[in-house]
Amino acid sequence: MSSLQFLGTGPGAPVRGKFFSSCLLRHDASLVLVDAGEPCSQRLVEAGVSSADIDAVLLTHGHSDHTAGLPMFLQSAWLAPRTKALPVYLPKELIAPLEAWLCAVYLPPSLLGFELSFHSWEAGRSVVAAKDVDVMPFPTTHLDSLRRIIDPAAKEKFEIFGLDIRCGAKRVVFSSDLGAPGDLDSALRTPCDLLVCELSHFSADELFAFLAGKNIGTLVLNHLAPEHAGAEAKIAEQAARALPQVRRVVVPQDGEKIDF
Ligand SMILES: [Zn+2]
Repeated sequence: MSSLQFLGTGPGAPVRGKFFSSCLLRHDASLVLVDAGEPCSQRLVEAGVSSADIDAVLLTHGHSDHTAGLPMFLQSAWLAPRTKALPVYLPKELIAPLEAWLCAVYLPPSLLGFELSFHSWEAGRSVVAAKDVDVMPFPTTHLDSLRRIIDPAAKEKFEIFGLDIRCGAKRVVFSSDLGAPGDLDSALRTPCDLLVCELSHFSADELFAFLAGKNIGTLVLNHLAPEHAGAEAKIAEQAARALPQVRRVVVPQDGEKIDF
């Protein structure tokens, strides 16, 4: 049995009634947290899951709407108290600043009571995040424009990864944030059971034109831009009309669980 529970579905700016990006992937007994937007530790409590039981945390990129809940998640794991090791997969450039930040908020490794390890993503190299949960990261272009503004010479930085996840026989693609829908091109060359796609950085029409004819079981539209607030049902209908090959379209509310 597999499911995704959306702990936060909001975009990169605060909107009413939605928290920031975080999703709980369950596959049999495996529990994996995909992104850690705030307040993911509180949302896990609401979902009846202890931070002590999460097998791995996957961070797609450094933007705060995907990472700001991590220190509080680790504080809650310390207090749980957690004993089993916790691997966190993330872009390499985040590791040193995150280690420094955890020391700054009084969560040094010596305090935690469990082994916390950081593992940098390498595009195209899969990792076993938990039992029967294999994750292949693929790069997106979402941060390219920020690299040009902030530090054009930093070729190794501004990394962001979509995640191509195998849960047993099922395949789930998480877009993370995209520069354009075409960033998903290679991931969608083969059928996927579930595509979780953001809808913040391009129009719905642009996304649906790209997804036309692609072999997708369930399309989950997530991380909707603030201007779409209140129009979730309309967007789901629009997607279902534009993409008749997709079996199911869901625009989840915070807390909603989708079985697959
Ligand atoms: Zn985002």
